Amino acid sequence: MKQNLTVLGATGSIGVSTLDVVARHPARYSVYALTANTQAEALAEQCLCHRPRFAVMRDEQAAEQLASLLKASGCETEVLSGEAGLVQVSKAPEVDVLMAAIVGSAGLEPTLAGVMAGKKVLLANKESLVMAGGLFMSAVRDSGATLLPIDSEHNAIFQCLPVDYRGVGAAGVRRILLTGSGGPFRETPIADLAAVTPDQACAHPNWSMGRKISVDSATMMNKGLEFVEACWLFDATPEQIEIVVHPQSVIHSMVEYSDGSVLAQMGNPDMRTPIAHALAWPERIESGVASLDFMTTSRLDFEAPSFERFPGLRLSIEAAKAGGIMPAVLNAANEVAVEAFLGGRAGFTDIPRVIESVLEKTGQFEPQDLAAVKEADAQARELAVSLLQSF
Ligand code: NAD
Ligand code: MG
Repeated sequence: MKQNLTVLGATGSIGVSTLDVVARHPARYSVYALTANTQAEALAEQCLCHRPRFAVMRDEQAAEQLASLLKASGCETEVLSGEAGLVQVSKAPEVDVLMAAIVGSAGLEPTLAGVMAGKKVLLANKESLVMAGGLFMSAVRDSGATLLPIDSEHNAIFQCLPVDYRGVGAAGVRRILLTGSGGPFRETPIADLAAVTPDQACAHPNWSMGRKISVDSATMMNKGLEFVEACWLFDATPEQIEIVVHPQSVIHSMVEYSDGSVLAQMGNPDMRTPIAHALAWPERIESGVASLDFMTTSRLDFEAPSFERFPGLRLSIEAAKAGGIMPAVLNAANEVAVEAFLGGRAGFTDIPRVIESVLEKTGQFEPQDLAAVKEADAQARELAVSLLQSF
């Protein structure tokens, strides 16, 4: 039986890689819906190639443009728009698998809609788990959704854990080793960081990704968000997770067991591996990724992360420990600061500065519902915008 797939964020880096894997397996998957924010032309091309039942543009004007492009090419894909359209194609009864690959907080509601509908959800949108981890994971339990991590580190950890994993400790797991490359500025003199440009920040040494996550990798906020993500996904306390800088990105993360064994998942840094793994799980399918060449991979280096160089990492770990609304606030402030940096309205080192100030100025509480998360997110954004103006 073919599986019906919705790809949220189809035109992005993860979306394109997902469709690359899917196109290799026409007998296994059929595309039910594709979505994007504003890129009507890119989505139109994908529609002509994959012939989904629905295409959704978040932006209304882009939806009109897409509809006329598709009409002109005789494509029968129906066009929807707005958040309501995204939610509709995430929870539709016909959908078996939801790839959640929108970037940032905009991914929260459509992803959660798929979770609440009990879908097999492939989670790339780490921000939704950082924002609302408690609500998200209880929705997974209530609906019986299957949640599979796409983030390469979390996918690696998932692969290294026992099949019947029930939390760190319970399965003889001693700790989780979350690896990260350290990004493009691992060795840049700290004094030079204030002047780095968006293009320099987006030039990741090992991975090709969207601009927001590329900046997050350069500040190591990405590892910080992944730290929070790992706590939720693997029911681990912050003390049970250690961040290890591994510049080659050959090991994608590791799990250490109580007997001292360490299992690592390795491979070329290509997101098609975790995508293919999660799509076919528990089976294995071809992803298009080349074999890892051990003869040219002559060394694997490891080092501790520097909190002086990457203050965002310290802030993220503190937010994970504090719990409650703090990770959502951290995420909101980061999104505003990254957007300002990419738009030339903030410096690179202003990013952790803004996050720290917003966290300091926010009172802790435990969000009881999505409305509370959204309100705190909006307040943190407002605060971040005004702080940036005062810098
Ligand atoms: P990207 O910027 O390349 O693509 C983002 C996609 O989301 C696009 O299709 C865009 O149209 C859509 N989008 C953007 N804003 C939107 C909005 N407001 N409403 C609806 N749709 C919107 O991003 P990416 O690099 O593919 O990352 C996507 C997610 O996957 C992020 O959460 C990121 O952290 C995560 N992730 C990415 C990688 C990677 O290698 N790129 C690895 C691990 C995790
Ligand atoms: Mg990652």
